[in-house]
Amino acid sequence: MKVLSAVVPCFNEEENIKDFYDEFIKAVTVLKEKEIDYELLFVDDGSTDDTVLKVKELKESDSKVHLVSFSRNFGKEAAIYAGLEKTNGDYVVFLDADLQDPPSLLPEMFSYIEEGYDCVATRRVSRKGEPPIRSFFARRFYKIMKRLSKTEIMDGARDYRLMTRQVADAVVSLGENNRFSKGLFGWVGFNTKWIEFENVERRKGETKWSFWKLFMYSLEGIASFSTAPLGIAAFIGGLFCFIAFVAIIFVFVRALVFGDPTSGWPSMVCIILFVSGIQLFCLGIVGQYLAKTYTEVKNRPKYIVKEEI
Ligand code: UDP
Ligand code: MG
Repeated sequence: MKVLSAVVPCFNEEENIKDFYDEFIKAVTVLKEKEIDYELLFVDDGSTDDTVLKVKELKESDSKVHLVSFSRNFGKEAAIYAGLEKTNGDYVVFLDADLQDPPSLLPEMFSYIEEGYDCVATRRVSRKGEPPIRSFFARRFYKIMKRLSKTEIMDGARDYRLMTRQVADAVVSLGENNRFSKGLFGWVGFNTKWIEFENVERRKGETKWSFWKLFMYSLEGIASFSTAPLGIAAFIGGLFCFIAFVAIIFVFVRALVFGDPTSGWPSMVCIILFVSGIQLFCLGIVGQYLAKTYTEVKNRPKYIVKEEI
């Protein structure tokens, strides 16, 4: 029998653990017919509620339930990485604890693995139930990514993915600290089947991603998978040098022909402010990459385990 390792990142999900488990068990019962057993790893990402307790309760009745608990909140990316490292099933799948990744899709996903795909990824085709501003910016993000990066990142892609051990190992081998999984999976390649589903709303509790957190995460994605902003900064610099060159000739010739009137102070101030603004902006872009390099070089562990059962 082959083993499916299911990894569930949880951050303050006490209300969802039980519901999730029930739905998950329904799905794996179907998989039993395909000779596939399961192990279920909950990665507690530093929850401050009773998430850990709820998982321990499940563990009492089901020995295939496992728990890795972080010493603090390290973020979903760290939880995903821990899941890849700590499991050793023949297949790995990530699911959200809030049931936004319906476990009922698992049998269908497996049928593609049987067809020979290495990885089955999911994307939601609608964003109903999501705040319109969030959808708008999410769509913009994927558009920008498509332009800036060579790595393919699908609009609406979720972290809900089923993969063979080979793909999982490939992703673990990318040891970078600034992680953007959707890009990493694209980067490692392999045969990927995309399946689509309608957005499902979170079962209970609230989303853990504030707008600001998502915004920072999107910058992470851009900085991790594209160096185009550096090119843009250089382009702006070049453009302004050219404009300055033309302006200097213009001013010089005008002074020769019409003499040197001292007016023009306000326009001068505007130009200085504008140009120094552009300079700081470009410096900021360079700084972003420097900051990423800095955190990579420090090479701190991606997470710290407090408890493992
Ligand atoms: N999550 C996590 N660490 C975090 C934030 C979220 O492990 O810092 C987990 C969360 O418990 C859930 C999944 O990641 O299982 C998706 O989070 P959420 O539902 O809040 O995000 P959304 O679905 O709104 O994008
Ligand atoms: Mg969710």
